[in-house]
Amino acid sequence: VLLMPSKRHIPVVLSIAGSDNSGGAGIQADLKTFTTLGVYGTTAVTCVVAEHPGRVKSITPIPAKAVREQIDLVFEAFPVAAVKTGMLYSAEIIEAVAASLKARKKERPFALVIDPVMVATSGAMLLKADALEALQKKLLPLADLVTPNLDETGVLLGHRLETLAEAQEAAVFAQQIWRVPFLVKGGHLQLSQATDFLFDGKTMHSYQVATVRNVKTHGNGCTYSAAICAGLAQGKTLHASVSAAKRFVTRAIRQHFRIGAYQPLNQLP
Ligand code: PLP
Repeated sequence: VLLMPSKRHIPVVLSIAGSDNSGGAGIQADLKTFTTLGVYGTTAVTCVVAEHPGRVKSITPIPAKAVREQIDLVFEAFPVAAVKTGMLYSAEIIEAVAASLKARKKERPFALVIDPVMVATSGAMLLKADALEALQKKLLPLADLVTPNLDETGVLLGHRLETLAEAQEAAVFAQQIWRVPFLVKGGHLQLSQATDFLFDGKTMHSYQVATVRNVKTHGNGCTYSAAICAGLAQGKTLHASVSAAKRFVTRAIRQHFRIGAYQPLNQLP
């Protein structure tokens, strides 16, 4: 069913990300989040990943030209209010995405959330090593928000980060380098509270919830950044969007369901 955004007056968003056939992360997580939060989701697929939560079997990148055409065709037909990027994988894809979004931003404004996806929980590399520079130089400066976890922040800044205090400092440091707001997420520290820091160049906000224990999750970061993107498309401020998205993703983790064959991980084929 094609919901016509102009008739329904619901905001249109675009996810530029990888396909996770197991449905918990990537494009699939983004679309489910968009629908749940009442925005109309469109997509540009960057890679087809054959995976499940415990294992990535193969990554097939989509040619950069086809990625760009997907983005351009969405903008041709829809009044896109907000965009998020997830897994971009290669320098060629990043450069195509950056060139397309830069040109579109000159035509009319939209919010851009960049989730700098690098490594899956299962250990698979979702960003090639030689693509980091393109991400840093071409894409990050275009963002209205960048949402790295602590490890990704460390890779972007070139040094390891290990404490919450370092996460907070890093949000300021990264904002000063790229001149765009950074949300540094501290959930991977597995402290009693999962704390994230947003620095927009003026104000430091922090977001804290009790850590949900004993759950194997998949696609948390995708869901979080998609929910922020939805909030921005609905006209919420950055702070309100992050705050609502943090509550949304926490509720999603608390209300998780277990996949039968996913337990235990090491017995999967
Ligand atoms: N697969 C795709 C296509 C993704 O974009 C991501 C994360 O962004 C993942 C897998 C990783 O998910 P997780 O690390 O939560 O298992």
